[in-house]
Amino acid sequence: MKTQPEPEEKSPEELVGTFSRSLNYPRDKEGVLFLAQGLAKAAKASGIAAAAIVARCQELSAFCPTDYDFQQVAIELAMASRPAPPKGCQECHGTGWRSFVLHVKTGAGEYDADFADHCDCKLGRFRRAAEYERKRKAEEKRGLVRVAD
Ligand SMILES: [Zn+2]
Repeated sequence: MKTQPEPEEKSPEELVGTFSRSLNYPRDKEGVLFLAQGLAKAAKASGIAAAAIVARCQELSAFCPTDYDFQQVAIELAMASRPAPPKGCQECHGTGWRSFVLHVKTGAGEYDADFADHCDCKLGRFRRAAEYERKRKAEEKRGLVRVAD
């Protein structure tokens, strides 16, 4: 569903060409290809546009980055673009957690039990979603969930 034309995207090979005037730019075709692959990989893993990674590398150094540099910069950009968690509310005192006491009746007797749950405010929902995402990823790692292409 595209509402407006995308800006023309440069290929990773074209993008790494930005560094061609750096002293340590690879002199052989293979080296350039390797660098382009490193950039493409870093962009894919982080969800950050390859062009943005290249722009940040240019800001950081006049040297041609390595594929390791691409990865580090991609991680840095991904962290910076992550939205800060929302604020909690008065009910949870800003923690996103709400504790409550339930009166429990069992065969052995009756007692008050403390429970904790995510608050219904923005922070509580944010925490709940993060927890769900963590669990899903853990299951994915164990191969329980198939990753759709
Ligand atoms: Zn709350």
